[in-house]
Amino acid sequence: MKILAVGRNYAAHIEELNNEKPESPVIFLKPDTAILRNNDPFYHPDFSKDIHFEVEILLKIAKHGKHIQEKYASDYYQEIGIGIDFTARDLQQYAKEKGLPWAIAKGFNNSAPISSFYQKHHFGDLGQLNFGLKVDGELKQKGNTSLMLYNFDQIIAYMSKFFTLKKGDIIFTGTPKGVGPIAVGNRLQAFIEDQTLLDFEIK
Ligand code: MG
Repeated sequence: MKILAVGRNYAAHIEELNNEKPESPVIFLKPDTAILRNNDPFYHPDFSKDIHFEVEILLKIAKHGKHIQEKYASDYYQEIGIGIDFTARDLQQYAKEKGLPWAIAKGFNNSAPISSFYQKHHFGDLGQLNFGLKVDGELKQKGNTSLMLYNFDQIIAYMSKFFTLKKGDIIFTGTPKGVGPIAVGNRLQAFIEDQTLLDFEIK
């Protein structure tokens, strides 16, 4: 399986990082070795001094597809979840300045903690989902899917022009504002609506 992700999909997050609003979705990948499951702790690596949390709604691809039209895209995912797109911001900033790829900054081991998956209508209207992240009990990120620049179906249509989507692939759909650094000892809790789906510690 592979992990595809979209960057810069919430306007307020683009502003907080002083990025430009994209003309088309910004896409990157993480390898399968990025996945961290079962609320296992995240062990802070020593190659970065500035790893940021980015809470994001996840889609799990349900069937094989390429060149998927937007009007059929919703047939290709039946389950959603929540995850953290851990980003080594210092390494990413260096890569941006040099015009280099984000592979290390986004794809390092365990950089994709993910929750279990749930039927896509379990939490309500997909276009109006509230979700967010608490760190040590304090609300740090709060988003609503209505604020996405590209909605789930548009993301799938765009990604599938370039990458064949396969059953079991996971898509990170972008983070709302409020990203920030993690520290050893933090407890991260991510939620959709009123359900905490991910709850783990930084060690
Ligand atoms: Mg992200």
